Amino acid sequence: MSSFVSYQDPPMSVALPMLREPVRSPTRAPAHEVTSPRSVRVSLTDRCDLACVYCRPDKQDGYLDEQLDLEAWSAMLDGLVAAGIRRVRITGGEPLLHPNLVAIVRRIAQLPIDDLALTTNATRLARFAVPLREAGLHRLNVSLDSLDADRFARMTRGGKLAQVVAGIEAARAAGFKDMKLNAVVVRGENDSELEEIVRWCWDREITPRFLEVMMIGEGPKLRSRVVSGSEMRARLAPLLAQEDARVEPDRGPAKYVRARHDSKLRVGFITGTTDTYCAGCDRRRSSRGTA
Ligand code: SF4
Repeated sequence: MSSFVSYQDPPMSVALPMLREPVRSPTRAPAHEVTSPRSVRVSLTDRCDLACVYCRPDKQDGYLDEQLDLEAWSAMLDGLVAAGIRRVRITGGEPLLHPNLVAIVRRIAQLPIDDLALTTNATRLARFAVPLREAGLHRLNVSLDSLDADRFARMTRGGKLAQVVAGIEAARAAGFKDMKLNAVVVRGENDSELEEIVRWCWDREITPRFLEVMMIGEGPKLRSRVVSGSEMRARLAPLLAQEDARVEPDRGPAKYVRARHDSKLRVGFITGTTDTYCAGCDRRRSSRGTA
């Protein structure tokens, strides 16, 4: 358990990072040909029932008043697929808060796409795992930063670890394979848990992925507490093969290293602060509306 850390900064109004086009710094963006987007991240809602310390200052921050209905979402996805999109990831905010989520998943699943995935904080996944599976969702990524209930509550400003774990177990029971767990690493908080998180995931055939705190949302307030991907990897060296980290084709910016003892197990690293991966990105972002 780490020492107590306060995240009670004064409330402020900021736009949520997932609602904006990615910031492309002219000093960092390499010269390259623009790739025609093949994947899209669809932010169904800006709302969330958690307020992670690197994301938003409170649970009511920055919500939009407008929303798209199912018909509008369908029209947008039809257009994106007609334009060449073949992989869809549903995100938020927290997408499981959207009242039409299952219907939207069912609608998207009927399109000629190769991959349909969803990223969730899993607080409501115990209820939605089976309906989502039956609606045609292929894959799930779950955000979970700590296996310590007190630390989890602190990092999410009130989240209940047991709900999330129940959601993950429900998803496994519903038949979701190839699950990934995303943990944002904050120095002095959960950086002592990396090995425990890896073992917990591998025991459940889940791929853990560790993310650097990024300088968006509330991230700049934690600038001094960024743990680089290379440091994370060094800490996990006893568990990992000595090999170059590899990107998984068509599956985003994470770089993976295999387990030392079993080549079927991996750990992923997402290094959005110490590295840039814009050159190889083929992802479009679409967001509009609240639940
Ligand atoms: S669960 Fe995701 S959207 Fe919600 S506060 Fe945390 S990082 Fe932000």
